[in-house]
Amino acid sequence: MYLGRSNKKVTAKQAAVILVPVLRKAPNVASNCIDTSKLFMNTGIDIEFVRQNYQKMTDEELVRVATQDSTGLTPEAQEVAKKEIQRRKLDRNIIQGIQAQNRSYTIEEIDKYCEIIQKLNCPTCNTSSQILNGTMTVEVVSYVFLTQYKEKIKIGCPDCLDRANNAALTKTVALGWWGIPWGIIRTIQSIIVNLKNKKTNHNDTPNVFLRSFVLSKVGLLETYKDDKEKVQQLISV
Ligand SMILES: [Zn+2]
Repeated sequence: MYLGRSNKKVTAKQAAVILVPVLRKAPNVASNCIDTSKLFMNTGIDIEFVRQNYQKMTDEELVRVATQDSTGLTPEAQEVAKKEIQRRKLDRNIIQGIQAQNRSYTIEEIDKYCEIIQKLNCPTCNTSSQILNGTMTVEVVSYVFLTQYKEKIKIGCPDCLDRANNAALTKTVALGWWGIPWGIIRTIQSIIVNLKNKKTNHNDTPNVFLRSFVLSKVGLLETYKDDKEKVQQLISV
């Protein structure tokens, strides 16, 4: 459904699928696709079409798009989404969620969101005695000719983060190495990355994994920053 997004890089294949039916405005499309930007030179985006698409959504869909999938919406499309949220009398913080996904941040601003998360209970052991942070676990599992390399960002207390990295290491050492030909290579990579990532699990200040988690959820965090329960749910995934 076309929601008025622009400046989003699309592959030639995706562009072909998206552009032909809805004449999507996409400046970065590959040259072998129809260049629809010319069609919009005088008229801009068909904002009425965008408006109709927002109106067709259920409240649930609208909230999801606004809080989680608004990156790259043009200012006109953001305005349409805001009006629709106001028309339906939904929580006004959702509008801030849209804006939060369409601006850039300083480290200090990111760390303000990190602070909200750091004070929560650990989603694994449920204690609040330690300040929370993030890690990335890397797991490798091989099935003869197929080797899976799975990265996952996890939020928790330092001890639980250590345990998560250790569990990924144990699983990788047991199941990762015997794939051909990537098993050994990926297993070694996983061991190095898990051990390296563990080093920042006990930092008092937000580490790179917590910051990237915050950025990936910034629309939700801005919308629900005053609702401790909602933010707690957010880190439990
Ligand atoms: Zn814990």
